[in-house]
Amino acid sequence: MRSYQITGWGQPLEPREAPTPTPIGSEVLLRVTGCGVCHSDIHIKVGYFDMGGGRRVRHEDHGTTLPFTMGHEIVGEVATLGPDARGVAIGDRRVVFPWIGCRACAKCEAGDELMCQQPKHLGAFAPGGYADHVLVPHPQYLIEFGTTPPALAATYACSGLTAYAALRKAGRLTAEDWLLVIGCGGVGLSAINLAKLVSPARVVAADIDPGKRQAALAAGATEAIDNGDKDAMRSLRKISGGGVAAAIDFVGAPKTSRFGVDALRKGGTHVVVGLYGDVLEVPLPYFPFKLMTIRGSLVGTLEEMRELMALVRAGKVPPIPIATRPLAEVNQVLDDLERGRVVGRVVVIP
Ligand SMILES: [Zn+2]
Ligand SMILES: [Zn+2]
Repeated sequence: MRSYQITGWGQPLEPREAPTPTPIGSEVLLRVTGCGVCHSDIHIKVGYFDMGGGRRVRHEDHGTTLPFTMGHEIVGEVATLGPDARGVAIGDRRVVFPWIGCRACAKCEAGDELMCQQPKHLGAFAPGGYADHVLVPHPQYLIEFGTTPPALAATYACSGLTAYAALRKAGRLTAEDWLLVIGCGGVGLSAINLAKLVSPARVVAADIDPGKRQAALAAGATEAIDNGDKDAMRSLRKISGGGVAAAIDFVGAPKTSRFGVDALRKGGTHVVVGLYGDVLEVPLPYFPFKLMTIRGSLVGTLEEMRELMALVRAGKVPPIPIATRPLAEVNQVLDDLERGRVVGRVVVIP
């Protein structure tokens, strides 16, 4: 099989050949037909997360060794089944739930794999989908996508699921409430698309890029503002009648999260999703005075993915803009993504 791998942290991915694995036990070998390119791949590729103040968390300290194959928005066809794999047949088309745990600890056994301390996420800790084949440990991680175009289906595994799980964490909102979505790239746009399925709150989108604000309005945001503008907070307070009930930061930078926290009304919740990094400075009196909550959200659970895919199969989720490019162009795609030149999602095809 051919995979595009990280062979040196921060270096372009390199095509490499290796023997195609044979599934054992409950494993399923999938022939990859598409893999979404996610912004977090940029962070995985460099080999660390920026924790601020010069501190870094290195992937190698968490067991990711080189060469490594990224890619966690995987769609494909069942190619080979392990002897104990049940419930799928050769040729079945499925999207992969990649946020798999160690499958041995108490959390994993209780079905709460996202809380596993030794995760085996495909494309982050185990080989992912920037390849023509990928090994999935059990058929339960393969989810039907009905008549959804396969490339679009791939994006629900991270972009869609991350958006859905973050919206779930924004709290119980009413039709009087405003939800602020900061960052309208792939995941932010998905959140705007999904917002009405999760709560009746109106969405105000914030992005510094006019093209992305346009896409946000097209996806269903009631208002869109430029959070880089010096009057942004004033316009936001005007729109929301004093403050938003919840903010979700899909960038995760000090400025964007501070914007979200400042925008909260009393009792509001700020959810950090993006992995830009560095440190958030928040006045401590905000916590009691605003009675506010700051929390994080990372991807989503298998149960949330099943809920989301049921909505997708029922035709309730409007599609995000998708472009497909050959897997061989994955380095250019990552570069375009890093420079903010992508609206919606790019899916690479082996
Ligand atoms: Zn992702
Ligand atoms: Zn586990």
